Parts: sequence; C-alpha cells; structure tokens
Amino acid sequence: MARLYIVPTPIGNLDDITLRAITVLREADFILAEDTRTTSFLLRHLGIENKLRSHHKFNEHATVHAVAESIAAGHCVALVSDAGTPGISDPGFLLVRTCIEQGIEVETLPGPTAVIPALVQSGFPCDRFCFEGFLPQKKGRSKHLQALADEERTMIFYESPYRVVRCLEQLAEVFGPERRVSVSRELTKKFEQTVRGTLAEVLGHFRTTEPKGEFVIVVAGRPKPGRRNGGPEVPEEPEDD
Ligand code: SAM
Repeated sequence: MARLYIVPTPIGNLDDITLRAITVLREADFILAEDTRTTSFLLRHLGIENKLRSHHKFNEHATVHAVAESIAAGHCVALVSDAGTPGISDPGFLLVRTCIEQGIEVETLPGPTAVIPALVQSGFPCDRFCFEGFLPQKKGRSKHLQALADEERTMIFYESPYRVVRCLEQLAEVFGPERRVSVSRELTKKFEQTVRGTLAEVLGHFRTTEPKGEFVIVVAGRPKPGRRNGGPEVPEEPEDD
C-alpha cells in the first residue's frame, strides 16, 4: 500500500535494526536517505539493493512536494536518517507534516534512538520527561536554558563532544552544581559509557577526561519537597515496633 514509512536505523550497533525495518527497506519503491553513503553502507551490510534518493535539511524544502506526489501516485517510500529515528533531531518532520496535510498515509516504525536508552539508563524518573534535543548553539542558548530552570521533569539534551564541558557549565549555572546529571556516550557502541553524579562531579570528570564520541546529557528535574534530587519520593524510615 502506498505510504511514507519512517524507518529508524541503528545508532551504533548494527544488530539493533528491526526485522520490520529490513522488510520495509527491501520492499519500498525507493529510500530517502540523509546521507546516501551512510545508508549504502547499512544496505550492503543487510544485503539489500534498493534505489536511494538524497533527502536532507539542505534540500528537503525543494523536494518535499515531489516526494509527496510520488507517494500519492502509488509509491511506497521509506525515509531514513544517518542514525536513529528520522524527525528526532534529524530531517523528517517537514515530510511527515506535508504527507499528513495531503492525506497521505504515514507509518512510523519503532526502533533505535539515543534519547530513550540514555533516559532509562540515567536512573532518573522516566514516567514524564522533556526532550530538548540540541540547544541553540549561540543566540538564545542561555534564554532557552533559563526557561527550564523550574522544570520538574527529567530533561534530555543532545550535545556535540566539543561543547559538552561548556554545556555542563551552563547547566550548573542554571540548575546549581548539586543537581544530578547522567551523561551517556557512545550508546550501543564498543566504548559505551554512562557517567552519573552531581553537575559539579560530572563536570570535574569531563574537565580531566577529554569528551569523545556522541553524547546525551540527562538532567534530573527540579526536586519537589519530600523528593530526593534525581529520584522518586524518599522512602519513609520504617517505624520501630
Ligand atoms: N535521530 C537520532 C536519534 O533518534 O537519536 C539523533 C540524530 S542527531 C543528528 C545526533 C545526536 O544524537 C548526537 O549528537 C548525540 O547527541 C545523539 N546520539 C546519536 N547516537 C548516539 C550514540 N550512539 N550515543 C550517544 N548519543 C548519540
């Protein structure tokens, strides 16, 4: 059936591709790829031959309507990004919105993304959370952070290794050095690591150990009265008999 499939791809470990993603990538009429070289590598690994068309943030505005027309004409199209779920800090939103506006069926496959393992791995409450993606690099960065000062939900940020230390410094300025943080790097890869502690402690770690690889920073929400920093309610002391 003609539709747009959103297909998540591994964020490191190639075994994380789902069986359904493989089927869709094999059977789609063509695949829209953020970087055709990266996706060619994945397809070769999976033994899939299919047509690739480039779809990235620099051409999506120019091509989105032609893609929607092609699906409306009966084609099945799969959208992938370089890693993880398209639309999550990656191109995808514009095409999905356009398809929905034009009454075109969109089907999003569940699958790899960095935000969910980093959140769950943090040990902070994940019943409610707030995904912030990449902070603005320059203009509006501190205003954006200030707006989160009273956020009670666990917050998740994507950050480049070159800005991790600066980012942790800014987070400490807004949330205070005692707020708990969990920094996950290289998720699903050989050198996967999660560093947990207060912002002051984790900042100390990355000031002495050069940040390398891909990073997700998870910050505990503002502690509520009677709740511990970065955790659920503090269990009451058992009463003596
Ligand atoms: N679409 C992707 C997803 O669903 O997570 C995100 C793409 S965004 C361009 C790339 C950012 O995601 C990286 O800078 C990093 O913050 C995060 N990321 C992606 N892969 C990661 C990994 N293996 N470990 C840690 N963070 C990762």
